[in-house]
Amino acid sequence: KKFVYLFHEGQGNMKDLLGGKGANLAEMTRIGLPVPYGFTITTEACNAYYEAGKTIPASIEQQTLEALSRLEEKMGKKLGDSDNPLLVSVRSGSVFSMPGMMDTILNLGMNDETVAAVAKLTDNPRFAYDSYRRFIQMFSNVVLEIDTYYFEQLLEETREQKGYLSDPELTAEDWKEVIAGYKEIVKKHTKKAFPQDPKEQLFLAINAVFNSWNNQRAIVYRRLNKIPDHLGTAVNVQSMVFGNMGDDSGTGVAFTRNPSTGEPTLYGEYLINAQGEDVVAGIRTPQPIATLQEEMPDVYKQFTDTCHQLEQHYQEMQDIEFTVERGKLFILQTRNGKRTAQAAIRIAVEMVEEGIIDKKTALLRVDPDQLNQLLHRRIDNSVEKEILAKGLPASPGAATGQVVFDADEAEQLAKEGQKVILVRPETTPDDIHGVVASQAILTSRGGMTSHAAVVARGMGKACICGCEAIKIDLRAKQFTVGRITVNFGDTITIDGSTGEIILGEVPMIEPELSDEFQRLLAWADEERKIVVRANADNPEDAKKAFEFGAVGIGLCRTEHMFMDSKRVPIVQKMILAENFGERKAALEQLLPMQQEDFEGIFEAMQGYPVTVRLLDPPLHEFLPPKEELLIEVTKLQILEPQSEELKKKEQLLKKVRQLDEYNPMLGLRGCRLGIMYPEIYEMQAKAIFYAAATLAERNIEVQPEIMIPLVGHVNELKEMRQVVVDAANNVQKETGKKIAFTIGTMIEIPRAAVTADQIAEEADFFSFGTNDLTQTTFGYSRDDAEGKFLQAYVENKILPENPFSALDQTGVGKLVETGVKLGRTTKPKLKLGICGEHGGEKSSIEFFYKIGLDYVSCSPYRVPLARLAAAQATI
Ligand code: PEP
Ligand code: MG
Repeated sequence: KKFVYLFHEGQGNMKDLLGGKGANLAEMTRIGLPVPYGFTITTEACNAYYEAGKTIPASIEQQTLEALSRLEEKMGKKLGDSDNPLLVSVRSGSVFSMPGMMDTILNLGMNDETVAAVAKLTDNPRFAYDSYRRFIQMFSNVVLEIDTYYFEQLLEETREQKGYLSDPELTAEDWKEVIAGYKEIVKKHTKKAFPQDPKEQLFLAINAVFNSWNNQRAIVYRRLNKIPDHLGTAVNVQSMVFGNMGDDSGTGVAFTRNPSTGEPTLYGEYLINAQGEDVVAGIRTPQPIATLQEEMPDVYKQFTDTCHQLEQHYQEMQDIEFTVERGKLFILQTRNGKRTAQAAIRIAVEMVEEGIIDKKTALLRVDPDQLNQLLHRRIDNSVEKEILAKGLPASPGAATGQVVFDADEAEQLAKEGQKVILVRPETTPDDIHGVVASQAILTSRGGMTSHAAVVARGMGKACICGCEAIKIDLRAKQFTVGRITVNFGDTITIDGSTGEIILGEVPMIEPELSDEFQRLLAWADEERKIVVRANADNPEDAKKAFEFGAVGIGLCRTEHMFMDSKRVPIVQKMILAENFGERKAALEQLLPMQQEDFEGIFEAMQGYPVTVRLLDPPLHEFLPPKEELLIEVTKLQILEPQSEELKKKEQLLKKVRQLDEYNPMLGLRGCRLGIMYPEIYEMQAKAIFYAAATLAERNIEVQPEIMIPLVGHVNELKEMRQVVVDAANNVQKETGKKIAFTIGTMIEIPRAAVTADQIAEEADFFSFGTNDLTQTTFGYSRDDAEGKFLQAYVENKILPENPFSALDQTGVGKLVETGVKLGRTTKPKLKLGICGEHGGEKSSIEFFYKIGLDYVSCSPYRVPLARLAAAQATI
């Protein structure tokens, strides 16, 4: 079996085998770009390595040595040669890009002998010894697992001793001293001398790259991005080119379009006289790419041409790493560039206009999940605010939170429910858990392509980078800007779109859809075959939903109308009523309030259907908790034993005890409430019809769809249907207005799904309540399961995903499918929809489309996402 491919033997479509990076290096070599030559050890070799108990099998070793010989021939250099040594980089490269997640080793092949040769060849001993010490440091860290800290400390001591401010001031002789010190560190930690044999170095490095596939941060990243663990990583061995050979050398990274806004201009940064990791690690703040045009006009021209060629070739925005060695340009890497949602949309739409891709491809280029960030809030600029400092706008969105300076602390506070902003000089892959836990990231060093920026954009989190105005003191847990000190725990607001940092909390404004976004969604609407509605229970949400393109309300939860603080006392009166008359009186008071809400919602939907669900939750949700009441009553018994207040509270407590249930979610709720207290549903139905009649008067079209929740037996629906029909007839008699309406039910109990043929007899439509259906199918409490065991289930892969977020297609989905089939055997044209949380989740939407639902309904902010996902489902 072939485990090792020289670059010219591979191709761009061999990603599974060569990894993303390896396949691209092969492809770039194939189309004639200036790529430093090398070879790739396959992902299959990685798996073979693990199967062999973490050792490199002999055949792979053999093939690697052969490839090395070819490489040596091609370069005219030999690994370890004392006259003309070959130096290589060893990098990981998995099928999916995992930026900064895996380890890299540069300058491999350096030892006491070759360093002298490099010094002589380049006539630059300073460069040679600097490279050697970098190699020792990196190799020791990645392969020998010695903390970088020891090396950094020694370097800092040397600088201080010699009175230098920065590394470039160290001479070759200084570096030699540092190297001697470094070797001692290695000896102390490993009890062995630093390996001098370059082939030994090479195989140790390959081992380390394979091992890095299973290091902590790689595992976390994969889990976060749903990348399977079995894929393995390839290893790329490539001859080194040097960006740190003097002022005619340099290194940088660039995107072919702006990854933050999508603007079609080259976007990136570079450092003169530096090696690649200096840019990515964000240790020195680099120059914008545009100034390269002045510093190296020929290189710049060649580079821009190459960028154009690569974008046309891949038909995608590219993220390119390059190095200039003594005036000669080398392309080290290209990959599809990560981008914000805003940029993804603009690039997709503009690439259609430029004729590079078609509309369908454009629709597939935007990840629906990513749209969330666009629907994020921004800082309200009409409000006066004082800007504390400004950094690079690395990832858009605005966030407010407490300042923390450490990833562990960020994670801890977030677990306690705090909103935090992680402030660091720079972030490294080790901080990933802190980034995940934070609302936003702020760094004082590094550019737009630094680790923090790349990771934050990928996660859709606000991020500001390279804000040098803030001076961070990690030990004191504070940062200062001029005279102002911001301490751990202080609240700040940052705007990742402008780079502005503001003390305290600032008012924000809700997002709107950009022109490009509207166009993309219009294309999506042409393509999709499933309707998108929204869940909304008040006129504002209904308006927002309409703006975002919802064509109807799929679920109006009327209980939310009961929870308004002014209404709760009336609702309580209704619940506490001792008899029918008292209850009726309270309901009479509620009726006009509900009616007003319905009028607002119907009006906002401008003639589109509105599904109103009658009261669903257990009544105790409208009363104070039992424990609270018990304490109050006890207090009053001691302090004011004769008071009216005590009597009232005692009565309330009695009622709360009466309503108390062991399993309220399986108790007196949903249509069971309507059966026990038909007057409640009657009042709600009347409010709907009065609202419709009032709007009809104003010539506003309405399409009410009245929905009965939690039906498990057809007789429940039959009885409730009659209540609604009677209410309609009464209102019609009273107002003289005939209102067209339909009556349907939620399918959210397994019994309803499996008897859907019977239920359909009484229903004009079904709406699958996949929240309750998931709860009742799994038998997991939707309120408790996540915290108690569900997270552990997902982490331990007992379940592939949280079934309350992404529909469990095999189980719960089967019930939905059964409901669809049975329902339509009774009524072939039965209208079918879904209104659980899954209506706004892309994989679930695809499923609902496939089984033939007419619509999905989700929260207003997810409507654009659902429109796009619905289109993608059809492509
Ligand atoms: C459901 O159960 O899926 C549903 C939409 O209703 P609720 O979430 O209000 O129970
Ligand atoms: Mg429900």
